[in-house]
Amino acid sequence: MSSNESKKVFDEGAALLLVDELRGIFASGTTRSYEWRVSQLKALSKLVDDREQQIIEALRSDLCKPPLETVAYEIAMLKNSCRVALKELKHWMKPEKVKTSMTTFPSSAEIVSEPLGVVLIISAWNYPFLLSLDPVIGAIAAGNTVVLKPSEIAPATSSLLAKLLEEYMDNSSIKVVEGAVDETSALLQQKWDKIFYTGNGRVGRIVMAAAAKHLTPVVLELGGKSPVVVDSDINLRVAARRIIAGKWGCNNGQACISPDYILTTKDFAPKLIDALKTELGKFYGENPLESKDLSRIVNMNHFARLRKLLEDDKVAGKIVYGGEKDESKLRIAPTILLDAPRNSLIMKEEIFGPLLPIITVNKLEESFDVINSGTKPLAAYLFTNNKKLREQFVTTVSAGGLVVNDTTVHLATHTLPFGGVGDSGMGSYHGKFSFEAFSHKKAVLYRGFKADASVRYPPYTKTKLRL
Ligand code: NAD
Repeated sequence: MSSNESKKVFDEGAALLLVDELRGIFASGTTRSYEWRVSQLKALSKLVDDREQQIIEALRSDLCKPPLETVAYEIAMLKNSCRVALKELKHWMKPEKVKTSMTTFPSSAEIVSEPLGVVLIISAWNYPFLLSLDPVIGAIAAGNTVVLKPSEIAPATSSLLAKLLEEYMDNSSIKVVEGAVDETSALLQQKWDKIFYTGNGRVGRIVMAAAAKHLTPVVLELGGKSPVVVDSDINLRVAARRIIAGKWGCNNGQACISPDYILTTKDFAPKLIDALKTELGKFYGENPLESKDLSRIVNMNHFARLRKLLEDDKVAGKIVYGGEKDESKLRIAPTILLDAPRNSLIMKEEIFGPLLPIITVNKLEESFDVINSGTKPLAAYLFTNNKKLREQFVTTVSAGGLVVNDTTVHLATHTLPFGGVGDSGMGSYHGKFSFEAFSHKKAVLYRGFKADASVRYPPYTKTKLRL
């Protein structure tokens, strides 16, 4: 028997059985208790501590991700999410007392956070460890049973997650289903109490359509073209370094909040390009294709997609830095393009790779119109010392999140909600927002038997109407 034949098929029947089993566990009440939630958060934290090296190796295998990036952006972030949840859980779970109105006098009221039930988490390949487990933390903290479907495009991490969650977590309540479109489609046919999806908008629409059949609420963590507006009155060296860190220092541009393109004035563009070139040279050397500090492109499909963006006739002659590729190693060097036309492929779709177009405008304020004329991005960045420009940016630009004078770092701020708006997604998570994403805020009103006002009881007399 071949290994394919011996492999158990995960089809709709298997998905239904799985959801039924988890529904039974949820109904038993196990996952609702504070003790269960804490034990699972601690187990997850221990998993990350114990298996750091294996996680680093899995990400090296899937993406050649530099160990420092794995430790800083996947492992440390995850540990921090566990730490915050463990510290705050009691407080998050506590019913919130609220005022009542005269209509119900005398009464008291509170908002009780209750778990939703059986939730599905579908995650993406680019930060495959963090994007799988960070939502799991929210789901556990809120007291749900969980199915996690990691991305098949990061296979080493997917199988490591399946193995480690089985080893460390409560297997009756937290399950991993590995697989691709068929397995995900089988899962999506089922009735869930919440679906949390991270990935592209095309599949986001498939997820939402499947959820609609069961009136299941969704969180969609999608992407978009995240712009960086660069003013001339700045510390140029620091700005260049922070743009590079957010672009090439985040999985070689394969990050949802990586700078997608830059907007700056015609006059300032040459200075900005020079600063980026200088710092890129310092960071990645003369031959960036050989740099160990840059991830590779995840697979041949994505390599071919990025190559197509560079080979588009409309961007011929626009490369001002980089452009080197090595197909055999799936590597593309940091590449900067100047004034790619707005109708070129690279300016029409999310880049999600190491290519960075710089678009020039006559006046910097025009940048905000350029951004707002497209779909709403997941993030938008501005480098400036000009207070008025900063205010204009915050009030006029609509995006999932904004950062002034840096890139990507809002992701690590657990007091801020992380999520998109419009085409970049709906719903948010991180810190308390993760707990809320997987909870229902139940309204509870308490009354006694005294003061039983008769005005609402028939007969509806004229006197009662005047009250
Ligand atoms: P992906 O290919 O790993 O797909 C995401 C998930 O969708 C996977 O688990 C996959 O199995 C599933 N899937 C794929 N096709 C499907 C189908 N036809 N039906 C059902 N399920 C299917 O990841 P991706 O979409 O290439 O990820 C990149 C995109 O995700 C980018 O747009 C990026 O901006 C976005 N992203 C967003 C965030 C965020 O937090 N907002 C984070 C990472 C990536």
